[in-house]
Amino acid sequence: MIDLKKFEVWFITGTQDLYGEETLKQVAAHAQKVADSLNQESKIPVHVVYKPIVKTPEEIFETLQQANVTVNCIGIITWMHTFSPAKMWIRGLNILQKPLLHLHTQFNRDIPWSTIDMDFMNLNQSAHGDREFGFMVSRMRRDRKVVVGHWQDESVISEIEIWCRAAAGWNDWQGAKFARFGDNMRYVAVTDGDKVEAELKFGFSVNTYGIGDLVEIINSSSEQSIKELLTEYEDSYHIATNTPYSSIYEAAKIEIGLRKFLVDGGFKGFSDTFEDLHGMVQLPGIAVQRLMADGYGFAGEGDWKTAALVRACKVMGAGLPGGNAFMEDYTYHFDPTNSMVLGSHMLEIDASLANGKANLEVHPLGIGGKADPARLVFNVAGGNALNASLIDMGNRFRLLVNEVTAVNIENELPNLPVARVLWKPLPDMKTGCAAWIYAGGAHHTAYSQNLSTQHLLDFANIAGLEYINIGADTKITQFRNELHWNEVYYK
Ligand code: MN
Repeated sequence: MIDLKKFEVWFITGTQDLYGEETLKQVAAHAQKVADSLNQESKIPVHVVYKPIVKTPEEIFETLQQANVTVNCIGIITWMHTFSPAKMWIRGLNILQKPLLHLHTQFNRDIPWSTIDMDFMNLNQSAHGDREFGFMVSRMRRDRKVVVGHWQDESVISEIEIWCRAAAGWNDWQGAKFARFGDNMRYVAVTDGDKVEAELKFGFSVNTYGIGDLVEIINSSSEQSIKELLTEYEDSYHIATNTPYSSIYEAAKIEIGLRKFLVDGGFKGFSDTFEDLHGMVQLPGIAVQRLMADGYGFAGEGDWKTAALVRACKVMGAGLPGGNAFMEDYTYHFDPTNSMVLGSHMLEIDASLANGKANLEVHPLGIGGKADPARLVFNVAGGNALNASLIDMGNRFRLLVNEVTAVNIENELPNLPVARVLWKPLPDMKTGCAAWIYAGGAHHTAYSQNLSTQHLLDFANIAGLEYINIGADTKITQFRNELHWNEVYYK
């Protein structure tokens, strides 16, 4: 469902007319080589497209204007191989609406000690040419990513890869539609927020749909499609022989209807709430779990912000091993020598996190007052991961990230009928949880096994989001100061 290869980032090299034709030919040839080399990197998930070198304010303006209107262009990479007087960039940068990465590189890696002369010096000037460009971007208060190093260096390629993924996540939000069945869970604060401001800032819309409209589509699912899906369930999951057929049948029917609703409406994610299920036989469990695994963003109880964040994470992590999922900090293990969080939800844990073949089970649910829902039950593997939360602070949105170490689940949990994850927050349980609460982080998160804080930071910078990280170096006093200082910055 999510394919990043259809996207492009444009490689734009700035220069000026005064070098003469020969030098400019060399500039163009070098730029083409750098762009082609990046394009051939298997790590970089999108196409890197060489654009003709830009030498005048008009050429710069026209190229950046084209980038804006080219649907598949998700960002631009700039490089000043030579000197490109930066007043030439003002008009272009003023209208640029795509994310910007400034690659501060140089065509040659080493100084050719025995042959270096003034011709060489005139051609290889990015050490000062990129500073002139950087000044203008800073002078215009424009956020961008600066990557420094030789273009063949592994770390440089990794940084570009990460930024491309962040740009893809951002691009996916532009014009994205998220469906909300029912409102937020009554009285809940953190899942609510300003949808108008979110659309202005982030480009996605969130609108509500009557549960009755969904129920109508669910009820129109054909017998044939239900039978086919039940066969798929049987092939994909362990199903105990005493599992009530009618419950699984109903769950398959819900999945077919929900999927049809999302596909027909062109939605990238959705949210529902157990307080608004009128006409539904059971709460969607396995349906949501499988739709998330297919790339849809989701969060429970009307939490549209987390649904959108989960979707963005899925796009950023597309093609990488591991999953991105809706998660909730559920309960604690407060053993002082081995403190951990158990993450789960009532039902809806993303099937892409399953470590091995999941069980398809039917159990009563003490909430919602509906028939026993079918759900996938599984453990999630250990490893490095993170939790991210998007919250509305009233005058701004905040992206809060906590790095965690997930732990393999060694205990049998015979009476727990939901999928679950165990993790240890960094830097430690006490600091991690306190910092999260001081920052106002939600109980709902996007849980990622394949994104780093750098992906989320790049994404936040592109989105103009406040970014707060809780990691190995977090000290609570300093962390609280950061929150206080940010209040002034965002005033
Ligand atoms: Mn919840």
